[in-house]
Amino acid sequence: MKPQTRLLWLAAATVAVCAASVPLIELLQWKPGDHNRPQPAKVVAGLPSTQEKGGTAPSDAIVLFDGKDLVNWQDHKGQPPQWKVGDGYFEVKPNSGDILTKQPFGDAQIHVEWLSPNPPHGTDQEPGNSGVYLMSRYELQVLESHTNVTYPDGMAGSVYCQYPPLVNPALPPGQWQTYDIIWHGPRFTATGELLSPATITLLYNGVLVQDHVTLTGPTDWLKRPPYKAHALKEPLLLQDHGSPVRYRNIWVRELK
Ligand code: MG
Repeated sequence: MKPQTRLLWLAAATVAVCAASVPLIELLQWKPGDHNRPQPAKVVAGLPSTQEKGGTAPSDAIVLFDGKDLVNWQDHKGQPPQWKVGDGYFEVKPNSGDILTKQPFGDAQIHVEWLSPNPPHGTDQEPGNSGVYLMSRYELQVLESHTNVTYPDGMAGSVYCQYPPLVNPALPPGQWQTYDIIWHGPRFTATGELLSPATITLLYNGVLVQDHVTLTGPTDWLKRPPYKAHALKEPLLLQDHGSPVRYRNIWVRELK
């Protein structure tokens, strides 16, 4: 290699490494097939989750609802939620307000199961409307979307008013459905400037519907407002949109 070419190559490689993600920088520490590389921690897998009785959480997850009570949740005033707990599930009490986890979360894998009321009530944005709000601000829409039609970025599996799902794997109302979410929250500088936006990946009933999309900012109704600085960890929120949607088997694995 000519000295000039070598210099150019080195410069390009340096830029690439500087811009690389943490996993890539870590990868470069190891030879291919290196037996000294640390083994991943063993995790006992949970049971699949669209089963009649619901799935179970993996062994290293924080369980936010175990089928019995809402001790891990509160309303906007910090009071116990008024939502109804049934046999292995809980249900939105319409017009009683959203509920939030007591514990805040940052980057995370999140599992949620939900069920739209059957028969559905209303059309468009009405039947089975609720929402899983990451960091209390960024909504993954929950809606009856098996039969009901609405604007694509407002249907089940959408990042509300930003991204429609890639496909529509919605099950009929009255059947349990699953969201498996990979969430990376936004980062802000000390003075509140956006350093990096949030990204989300979503498997809806086991089908990829959001493939690491970049959020434009927090959720608003028919708007796309810009980011506003917030903490690295914020509560997970479930929306009361006036429909008695049910939830069960909710767990979080925090990402380091
Ligand atoms: Mg909603």
